[in-house]
Amino acid sequence: MTKDDKKNTFSITLHKKLSDRETAGLLRRETVFPPTHAPDRINFAGNDYLGLSHHHDIINAFKNGIDRYGVSSCASRLITGTTEAHTILEREIAVFKQTESAVLFASGFQANSSVIPALCRSGDVILSDYLNHASLIDGIRLATALHRNIQFKRYRHIDMQHLKELLHEYADRRVIIITDSVFSMEGDYAPLDTIVACKEQHRNAIVYIDEAHATGILGAHGRGAIEHFGISPQHIDIIMGTFSKALGCFGAYVCGTNTVTEYIRNFTRGYIYSTAFPPAQACACSAALHVLQNNSSLRIRLRTNIHRLHSQLRHLGFTLPSFESHITTILLGDNNRALAYQKKLAERGFHVSAIRPPTVPPNTARLRITLSAAHTADEIDALCTALHEIKQDDKSNDTQI
Ligand SMILES: *Cc1c(COP(=O)(O)O)cnc(C)c1O
Repeated sequence: MTKDDKKNTFSITLHKKLSDRETAGLLRRETVFPPTHAPDRINFAGNDYLGLSHHHDIINAFKNGIDRYGVSSCASRLITGTTEAHTILEREIAVFKQTESAVLFASGFQANSSVIPALCRSGDVILSDYLNHASLIDGIRLATALHRNIQFKRYRHIDMQHLKELLHEYADRRVIIITDSVFSMEGDYAPLDTIVACKEQHRNAIVYIDEAHATGILGAHGRGAIEHFGISPQHIDIIMGTFSKALGCFGAYVCGTNTVTEYIRNFTRGYIYSTAFPPAQACACSAALHVLQNNSSLRIRLRTNIHRLHSQLRHLGFTLPSFESHITTILLGDNNRALAYQKKLAERGFHVSAIRPPTVPPNTARLRITLSAAHTADEIDALCTALHEIKQDDKSNDTQI
């Protein structure tokens, strides 16, 4: 085989995989969006649940942070990348989550994919909800590759009976239970109260939760699913979350005891060998936390919007999940059908995402509608009307939606 042949074979293999995806209606391409102050479509697909990404206090904090620190941290945290902006934010997020301390990460994906392998040891059993986020799954996969004799078991989504059975089966092993607290594609909540009770029954179990879609939204103060379920944070060993969803910023954190965070700083490669996130970004995240804590009206507005969307869609005959959440799905099944709905909504001025495998299981393609406190009642009503019209025209409507 010549050098050129080799290059060709490589390219042909990639091309074949791409065209297989295209044939299955699964090829993904980015849509380019205009700046939010000049929108051509109303966005029902983002994660800016409280509309904070354009809050002037947060923007000003970001700008002042840039004036003070420049645009980069220029090094990893343990070299010269730590500023007061980082340590203040770590203290503030720990206080907000009511834990002893916190450690920052450049992104949620980086946190999950590098903290889980650092925490695991040979012989552990990892029990993971079937619908956990990809970053948790990748962290688990890496853990199984790095340590000997790790059992990776997925329990059926939110099925506590299944979790109990597995805990019983592995009564003699150290078990790490890992779950999203609000599931990113379904919008439903993991029953943390039951999970904590299960953990307490086991001789040696640890709980790791991902609060990416819960922080800022759930609970009376927006502290997350832990507050929603009235659980003392001390009962959860690792609480991970992001600044990139309801807080409207970027980056992530892991909260726990001083020992846990000290361990993470020393043993997590994704922390040690990666450039610290920009100090100005830490300033923005701190400002977002302040806005969040001083504006409970944002959460109330979001809840009103959630209720409005759900009751209208039900009234129009859509089958919706039995719970109300800031993430709502309309199950369509077929990939191309989901894409057609997305396209027709776009033509009418709405951006709603069609979510397809492998993000969700095969034959469960869906529309995923996310709500924000920034949406107006008129915008929600207009979306419902558009969905209704599209449904009326849907010739494949033999599958009930
Ligand atoms: C978005 C998300 C992440 C990843 O966070 P990023 O900061 O976007 O990398 C992790 N977990 C869950 C559940 C998420 O929804």
